[in-house]
Amino acid sequence: MLSVFKKICLISAKPKTHTFEIIRSASQIPQLSSEKYGNVKRKDFSAVQANDVKFFRSCLGEDRVLTDENEVLPFNIDWAKNCRGQSKVVLKPKSTQEVSKILSYCNERRLAVCPQGGNTGVAGGSVPVFDEIILNMTLMNKVISFDDISGALVCETGCILENLDTYVRQHGLIMPLDLGAKGSCHIGGNISTNAGGLRLLRYGNLHGSVLGIEAVKADGTVIDCLKTLKKDNTGYHLKHLFIGSEGTLGVITKVAIHCPAKPKSVTLCYFGVQNFENVLQLYKSAKLSLGEIMSAFEMADFESINSTSKILNLPNPIPDFPFYVILETHGSDENHDKDKVNRFLTNEMKNGLILDGTVVSEPSKMQAIWNIRENIAPAGNIDTYLFTYDVSLPINHYYEIIPKLRKRLGDKVNFVCGFGHIGDGNLHINVVLPEYNEEVAALLEPYVYEQVAALQGSISAEHGIGFRKSHYIHYSKDESALRLMRDLKTLMDPNGILNPYKVLPDE
Ligand SMILES: Cc1cc2nc3c(=O)[nH]c(=O)nc-3n(C[C@H](O)[C@H](O)[C@H](O)COP(=O)(O)OP(=O)(O)OC[C@H]3O[C@@H](n4cnc5c(N)ncnc54)[C@H](O)[C@@H]3O)c2cc1C
Repeated sequence: MLSVFKKICLISAKPKTHTFEIIRSASQIPQLSSEKYGNVKRKDFSAVQANDVKFFRSCLGEDRVLTDENEVLPFNIDWAKNCRGQSKVVLKPKSTQEVSKILSYCNERRLAVCPQGGNTGVAGGSVPVFDEIILNMTLMNKVISFDDISGALVCETGCILENLDTYVRQHGLIMPLDLGAKGSCHIGGNISTNAGGLRLLRYGNLHGSVLGIEAVKADGTVIDCLKTLKKDNTGYHLKHLFIGSEGTLGVITKVAIHCPAKPKSVTLCYFGVQNFENVLQLYKSAKLSLGEIMSAFEMADFESINSTSKILNLPNPIPDFPFYVILETHGSDENHDKDKVNRFLTNEMKNGLILDGTVVSEPSKMQAIWNIRENIAPAGNIDTYLFTYDVSLPINHYYEIIPKLRKRLGDKVNFVCGFGHIGDGNLHINVVLPEYNEEVAALLEPYVYEQVAALQGSISAEHGIGFRKSHYIHYSKDESALRLMRDLKTLMDPNGILNPYKVLPDE
């Protein structure tokens, strides 16, 4: 442990908290999306008939076709309790061939399908809007091959991110992404949303680390781009079409992904900062001082940390400050890393940019700090209603929207907080209130998107467009880009059966 801080706090190790229980009690059942978002109309798809269920059972067997209303319900509700679909059938394929058979049949019958991974998505893309069939990928969860020299992991897309990380760590590598939902989200969901997460700053995004993809098109055709090569310039880079396509262009069944080396030394600094300008100065200075070893630079305001700490009873190891920064390093030489970190902290405490904090390198203590950060979003969703936004902004304007929203919403909400991945310009905005309220909804949307567009930002940094933002996509994509997106959709899914009502707005 380093010792430059005024006060080094010992943090008690808490067990990991994964608050992504998919089972919901009756009181948690949200309004149907079709009622809540009244402007959406069911498209002209067929409805599932007894014969269809018979066909699915002939492909998958009795157990992997769910039709009981209570069994199907949790798969109809999204993590944020924002959306509820009315699907009557959940299918759980175990192989690419089964996915292909199901899609080919659904395409013929004009039955709409909603692909679903771990159902931790927060844009409403993972649950149906009407009665789309839910194609849940949970049982496609096998590792196919792993090369610990090249770092290429090949697996089915229903594998849970945290399980994959545990697996590759045994071989001296790590998964290239990490996020708060890792205990439930699937690698297939991560790729379909182009998830970013806590260490994108260091390990890059999935367009860089995904080496190859196998996907099934709406008509059942299997597209095999499952290469494990780092370099492959043979024509169009088709895998990129599926990354971030949110289940609208195909169902991703297998992935080859590059895993970087597990760092030999990891250090976590958690400190308090007086104002947002100082957070930015610290980020600039950390990049210069720490260089290649900086793996994460996260910021959270007082409201984010204070509310999470209180709601989930996770003690905050440092005193109250207007802003907090979590800075992590991943390196290969402990002494070298400690020297760099020590120099940086000493300088910035002298400069007054860091007010106080703690620095830890024991895994349990680091996890206790990450637990607070990773639970900011879940905490806003416990017994309250959460409006959550995930935007990209030019870094100088990153935090401006938070005080504006506080002023605009006043005491109509419990609190507004801002936190996120400073290094990527990605701000998460949480607005927490006792229950869904149309007046607040109207004050937030499209206001948030207008503000972001005015600053040349993006209305979705990493969560995707899904169902809830499809009507706002024009704030970040111009008409020519939308036209090409529609053309691609028509080419790959002419009947529009894959995840309808998502990503692309009605014309
Ligand atoms: C506490 C918490 C923290 C989070 N932190 C982050 C974060 O830091 N960064 C981030 O980017 N996101 C974050 N998320 C959002 C979410 O976890 C990610 O979007 C994640 O990648 C979704 O994975 P999933 O398996 O749960 O996918 P789902 O939610 O099931 O699905 C998401 C979308 O992908 C599609 N899909 C899923 N699997 C497939 C497949 N095999 N083929 C085709 N389409 C598919 C679905 O149709 C849907 O449109 C967080 C969520 C929570 C609850």
